[in-house]
Amino acid sequence: MTSSTPAIVILGQGSLATARCLQQVYPAAQIHGLAGRVDGADCSYQEFGATLRALYQQDTPIIALCAAGIVIRTLAPLLLEKGAEPPVLAVAEDGTAVVPLLGGLGGVNSMAREIAAHLQVAAAITTSGELRFGTCLLNPPAGYALADLETGKRFVSDLLAGHSVRIDGAAPWLDQAQLPQDPQAQRAIHVASDARQVAANELRIYPRSVAVAVNADTADLLPRIRSALHQADVAVQSLACLVAADTQMASPALREVALQLAVPLRFVPAAADIAELAHNALAPAQIIVSAADMAVAVAAQPLDVSRIGRPRGRLAVIGLGPGAAELMVPAVKAELARATDVLGYETYVRMAGPFRDDQVQHCTDNREEMQRARHAFRLAAAGRSVIVVSSGDPGVFAMAAAVLEALHESDDPTWHSVDLEILPGVSASLATAAQAGAPLGHDFCVMSLSDNLKPWSIIEKRLGLAAQADLALAFYNPISKARPWQLGRALEIVGQHRTAQTPVVLGRDIGRPGQTLRVTTLGALTVDQVDMRTMVLVGSSTTCTFARSGGGEWVYTPRWYGEKPSG
Ligand code: SAH
Repeated sequence: MTSSTPAIVILGQGSLATARCLQQVYPAAQIHGLAGRVDGADCSYQEFGATLRALYQQDTPIIALCAAGIVIRTLAPLLLEKGAEPPVLAVAEDGTAVVPLLGGLGGVNSMAREIAAHLQVAAAITTSGELRFGTCLLNPPAGYALADLETGKRFVSDLLAGHSVRIDGAAPWLDQAQLPQDPQAQRAIHVASDARQVAANELRIYPRSVAVAVNADTADLLPRIRSALHQADVAVQSLACLVAADTQMASPALREVALQLAVPLRFVPAAADIAELAHNALAPAQIIVSAADMAVAVAAQPLDVSRIGRPRGRLAVIGLGPGAAELMVPAVKAELARATDVLGYETYVRMAGPFRDDQVQHCTDNREEMQRARHAFRLAAAGRSVIVVSSGDPGVFAMAAAVLEALHESDDPTWHSVDLEILPGVSASLATAAQAGAPLGHDFCVMSLSDNLKPWSIIEKRLGLAAQADLALAFYNPISKARPWQLGRALEIVGQHRTAQTPVVLGRDIGRPGQTLRVTTLGALTVDQVDMRTMVLVGSSTTCTFARSGGGEWVYTPRWYGEKPSG
């Protein structure tokens, strides 16, 4: 019953064949292979523990082809933190054993059965209810919600102890289950959307068969929705979604209420009144209009929310950080997982991957920034969940400003309704500075030396003033084939205000394979040591260096200026 695609994690070349075999069961699953040990995996990872824990924390189902003990020890520190957990299975390298470990309520046993059937072995199912009844009663399929887990556990153990059960309402997924059914049984599995209190001896399951159409401008929206459901005799747990006019897409009140009710928001064309809107969007459900601004629609079956109107589109401009996965912020990882469309310069899109088959990649040339921004808005305005990828931080000489400029220039209301968010990343200057020590430990100035989008004269002016102000300097885009002389001229200007001994840090491909870090001085720096993949940090008059054990130097700029404070 898991909706998301599992990750198949392997440690050695010997597991690849079994992993490929499991991919036949989960075609969208990626095989993650240990770098240096596995050739030909879909993507590679450096560290097993960090990778497994990251997948777990992102709620990705995990199939690990290794000893169960390794998986248990690796995930142990996370187990107490979390209520819901994704399915986690250990599968023997040679495919002879399938052991569901975690995620009993996330469908791990059904996954174990699927995998075992494919490998023609028996799954090591240890869950009593599941063994006896052939299904997990506490994990109803998508479209249904269990009322209460604790009561549910007691209910299942009653059945295991020999009590019989009857089914009230429609539970088609239980047709195949081997339940001790008896129409006269005291205990009942009750599937219904009404608001009646859960009785003792009852396993209550709510079909998500109700939608509420609302006007976002309604005062006290949340209590009003609750009372409309109450009047319609519908349990709030049966609510599948909220529906509103697409003209109200950007309403913060709607967003807040949907979050609090933990249901999706769907948008449909505006109508004369809420009753008409509900009819247009939700027929043939029975529609109960509770007021001029609210209508409750109750369907006979769980609603397929994906077929009701469309979601509010989302556009996230994300920063990948300098390159290494550990330096990517978790919010960005989560955004990458939810995206339907990924836009960006091809190198960065590749760096952000791997992506699932259902995620569309739109790679473009580095220079087409405004076009890319507008393309992103067109996709998001159509209801897609779009990300625009930058390296480092998206707000530092990157896509965030282009995206906002495109929005500022547009008077298209559908663009302005998009759920736009900028997610930060570790910028190259900060990643480079961290490796060198703390060269930016005091006031500093960040500049791009590219004169593509600004006149060279302004660059010279700013360089002179920043150097004169004794700010440490961080240069992005220091040089390129099309701009061969600019860096030399920049260093000349800085040299007028700094001594030849001023420390300089050169970070190339920081956080990426083959990274190099060099500490030199302004006097020794030559332009051939710098290319377009280099970050140049020039110290201020107080920046200093000292030897670090193990070789090389630490560089730092003290926090104070002028006289060193005592203590
Ligand atoms: N948004 C990016 C910067 C884009 S401008 C960020 O915040 O990092 C591109 C320039 O950034 C390059 O010319 C180079 O000077 C610098 N740069 C980007 N990634 C780098 C890395 N991994 N190592 C060193 N410099 C890098």
